Amino acid sequence: MTVASELPPMEVAERAGRLCHRFEEAGCEALLVTRMVNIRYLTGFTGSAGVLLVGPDAMVLVTDGRYRDQANEQLAAASVAARVEMAQTAAAQQWALGAAAAGLARLGLEAAHVSWAAQRRYANECFPRTELVATNGLVEDLRQHKDEGEIARMARAGAIADAALAVVRPRLGERPTEAEVALELDSEVRRLGADGAGFETIVASGPNGARPHARPGRRGIVEGDLVVIDFGAALDGYRSDMTRTTMVGEPSEMQRRMLDVVAESQAAGVVAVAAGVGAGEVDQVCRQVIAGAGWADAFLHGTGHGVGLDIHEDPRVSPTSTATLAAGHVVTVEPGVYLPEHGGVRIEDMVLVTTEGSRPLTHAPKDPHLP
Ligand code: ZN
Ligand code: ZN
Repeated sequence: MTVASELPPMEVAERAGRLCHRFEEAGCEALLVTRMVNIRYLTGFTGSAGVLLVGPDAMVLVTDGRYRDQANEQLAAASVAARVEMAQTAAAQQWALGAAAAGLARLGLEAAHVSWAAQRRYANECFPRTELVATNGLVEDLRQHKDEGEIARMARAGAIADAALAVVRPRLGERPTEAEVALELDSEVRRLGADGAGFETIVASGPNGARPHARPGRRGIVEGDLVVIDFGAALDGYRSDMTRTTMVGEPSEMQRRMLDVVAESQAAGVVAVAAGVGAGEVDQVCRQVIAGAGWADAFLHGTGHGVGLDIHEDPRVSPTSTATLAAGHVVTVEPGVYLPEHGGVRIEDMVLVTTEGSRPLTHAPKDPHLP
């Protein structure tokens, strides 16, 4: 399989400029980015500690000595023009940030990701002469739209998950435990070139399948189980997300109906996806099919979510979503029916929104029967 370095490059260096265009509306002149995944998006830096000040004329990344070489290398590799400063102590970090923000009247903070303690420290110690402004989702909004390099990584992560499932799924007939299946999937995605699992793998069999986010446990899979497998791969930080439900043995009449209804709902949802369509409308399309079967109360979650550097990101595809899908968004469509006496069925694909409709980034077969 292709490794990440052979995939088309991402437009990392252009992102800060796009971010700056949003400052006026947000009421700030610069933004202090403290959420690491957002720093990664804007600079390519993958370390675990750092603060990024994005101003109209310059960017300053303040990190510590552990990342001296890595930070400089990663920013250079992404052609990001930012000054990198090392600060070994809180006082040094304070000083570096204060100097970077000198002369700014209004500095935005990522309100959803700054603790109360941090906000007080910024206000009193780092930026005493600058007004701090709460901003919401400025970088997250940009992240919804994926460039060609990001799409290529997510498509590759999807293909890795497809291949891993093809290897592991036939073994469900050997009656493994849920935890064994999860471990095999996690190993297989790594063997196939992923950095790791896209998120914590879900393998939920029999009654456990009726809990949408069950954690894989010691339960051994038995004849008559529906087995919900929800997993993905991560590549260069980008994730894939896919669910398939497998019937071990012959389905009961009820299980057969659950499988058919969810398959119909999921297919209708994917068809509904297109640029310009409300995310809430896609949810409605999926929900109507399930409600029509009498299971409105057994569909326990939203229809889907955006995927990217985070496994769950905007836009949300839910009954209350006000988002409009746009070309370049990547979302999941994952309706499900959960009935404790019969188990759970969920089918999920990750799709790229296009002007005409959508393109699937996950392709594993949906036939619920074992070969
Ligand atoms: Zn999933
Ligand atoms: Zn999902």
